[in-house]
Amino acid sequence: MKAAIITVGNEILSGRTVNTNFSDIGKILTYSGYEVIRGIVVPDRLEDIAGAFKEAFSIADLIVSSGGLGPTYDDMTLEGFSMAFNLKMVENNEALDMIVKKVHELTPEREKMALIPENSIPLENSAGTAPGIYIEMSGKVFIILPGVPREVEAILKEVRDKIRIKGFHYVDKSMNLYNVKESLIAPLIRKLMKEYGNKVYIKTHPKIDENGKPWVEIEVSASGTDTDELESFVSHILEIIKTDVEKHNYA
Ligand code: ATP
Repeated sequence: MKAAIITVGNEILSGRTVNTNFSDIGKILTYSGYEVIRGIVVPDRLEDIAGAFKEAFSIADLIVSSGGLGPTYDDMTLEGFSMAFNLKMVENNEALDMIVKKVHELTPEREKMALIPENSIPLENSAGTAPGIYIEMSGKVFIILPGVPREVEAILKEVRDKIRIKGFHYVDKSMNLYNVKESLIAPLIRKLMKEYGNKVYIKTHPKIDENGKPWVEIEVSASGTDTDELESFVSHILEIIKTDVEKHNYA
């Protein structure tokens, strides 16, 4: 199953905000069994948001977005979503109840957060006010989340079981190799990927220590249905790398 992630916000494109929502959502989807095939970042502009949802819909089974669900004038993700698929925006009582529970006074701005696309289900936001949105369309699922990272995390926790691909497991282990340069260990990784690339994914993360010496974090991951088998195969690959590094000088 394929997934796409849309992050909305001028502040991400300008570099003012680091797009941590993207990596947080990506990790959760990967661990839930999805192959994340596209990440789209768009400004707070209606046409761009609508275009992003259309593009994601054409390629993915699950689409998760973050940002632009708040009460201010520049929060227009739901409008963009509705525009993309010609949906009406309707006041949703369940969403309104969720908002009322959080605030003392219902202002027009807060009421706006209860105006959601027809046929969508509001998702409880235990860390903030704006509910998330869950909507199924033509066998595909959309999850629309606010921008604040702890709210993204809280709502995703609620729906995680609903979206998790049953029987799917993902194993990811890392090992730190000190005194190793990424460029020098690259041929070994290439060889292992050629041999085992259909079963595991090996990724190197080059680092520098406080004395300026390079080291490498090696990450090996695999997915499938048998956790024990995955665990032992990933460990086996790490062991091959460790043994090789002990024998050679990659510094
Ligand atoms: P709000 O109710 O605060 O308006 P919202 O759903 O409209 O919430 P945004 O206004 O888009 O969300 O973002 C709120 C805050 O969350 C931003 O100020 C920013 O700090 C943070 N944020 C937004 N998008 C991201 C992202 N992709 N990664 C990390 N932080 C983000």
